Amino acid sequence: MFVVLLGRPGSGKGTQASRLATELGIPQIATGDILREAVQSGSDVGRRAKATIDAGGLVSDELMIDIVRERLARPDAAAGFILDGFPRTRRQADALDAMLDGRGTLRVLHIAVPEEEIVRRLGARRICGSCGVTAPPDTPPDAACARCGGTLVTRSDDTADVIRRRLTVYEREAAPLVAYYRERPGYVEIDGNQEPSAVAAGIEAALGGVGAESRGARGADS
Ligand code: AMP
Repeated sequence: MFVVLLGRPGSGKGTQASRLATELGIPQIATGDILREAVQSGSDVGRRAKATIDAGGLVSDELMIDIVRERLARPDAAAGFILDGFPRTRRQADALDAMLDGRGTLRVLHIAVPEEEIVRRLGARRICGSCGVTAPPDTPPDAACARCGGTLVTRSDDTADVIRRRLTVYEREAAPLVAYYRERPGYVEIDGNQEPSAVAAGIEAALGGVGAESRGARGADS
């Protein structure tokens, strides 16, 4: 199953991608996470991308396409993947089609959330300063990271100015992708302005109950 999650920053793509990846047993490929890890490790890619990320802009198509092409070529992505944060431009979308090369239909799930709700969510979002995982929205202010015990911090690009810039960039570059994919088979819009469990149910229904099927298959094997 080849899945793309589209949606504004803060629409809950990451939460849903992670859940779906576990459910289906295929990798979540989150380009923002890949870039943040590269920045943290001080790699060449990280050095090239850091200033752009911190300013809320988009990293170049060339670099992003290379990163995703390399990642999709790994064996664990052969049977499917959940792309979270890619494509973000029409050029990236065309490159993705070329990478898939007819291997299967792309399922494009657009998680739609109004802008006012996005600004509220991003202002409150925190990630782990050690492992980078995003804390669930109901995490108490003094809690530590549930995964590694690290300290929770605000993402460097979740400040008011940068949030505004990222939303502007999204409307300009990524929103046209919605119009592009809407005309293709495999596109579904999901109401993202509800509890994560309700969004998850919407996704499962959109994918034709495939999560339930794969759970059944795994259950039968074990
Ligand atoms: P995200 O975690 O998806 O919000 O991404 C954080 C930042 O990483 C974005 O604001 C961009 O600077 C950069 N980024 C992530 N994915 C892409 C992409 N597909 N194309 C360009 N820049 C990206």
